[in-house]
Amino acid sequence: MLTLKIQQMTINGHPYLCPDCASEAFTLDGAGWIDALPVRGNCWQSHSWEEPLITLGWLKQIQAASTGRQRAEDEDTFAIVIGGVAFEGTLHPDVILDDLKRAARDVYWKKIIKPAARRRKNAAKRALKRPFKRAAAAVTGTAAHTVAAAKAAAIGAAWDWNTAGGDPDPDYTPEPVNPCPVCVGGYVQLDTNIHDTTRVRCTVCSGTGEID
Ligand SMILES: [Zn+2]
Ligand SMILES: [Zn+2]
Repeated sequence: MLTLKIQQMTINGHPYLCPDCASEAFTLDGAGWIDALPVRGNCWQSHSWEEPLITLGWLKQIQAASTGRQRAEDEDTFAIVIGGVAFEGTLHPDVILDDLKRAARDVYWKKIIKPAARRRKNAAKRALKRPFKRAAAAVTGTAAHTVAAAKAAAIGAAWDWNTAGGDPDPDYTPEPVNPCPVCVGGYVQLDTNIHDTTRVRCTVCSGTGEID
């Protein structure tokens, strides 16, 4: 059994088509092993006919003359003269390794790499904006903290000095406390929105507001 899948072909320059539907794609099937027997044509619409001109032996010669395909873009063509009859045409491409590789690559590219690249690009765009905002927030936060701490210290000192009966004890030494330089009272303000601020627990001092 030998089957050639014809994509299109001519005999002596004339298109050879399915006699029923004029389809140019069909198979030529040679049954058995006797080279002198004619082959049958079978088109994709299930029309079937005997082709007395082409024998199994000729079909084998046509197959032998076909170029085959090495790369995905190659066509499998044939052009051969047998018994004074010129056959020319293209065989339906059999799937070759390069087709699979190419298909895998194309699918890989379209389905996986491209979306991933797009996602990464978008993420990069977002990430570009984010650190700036956060850095700006951190800067203003620190500045605000410093000012607030200075104010608190000033008020605290004034309070201590002015409280009735609260004369400062000259021997009194306050606990050595170092306020956390990053936060205010253990919390950091994050500008997540223009009007919305979020307080997050400071990771430097674990939310105590003090460092040792
Ligand atoms: Zn047909
Ligand atoms: Zn802190």
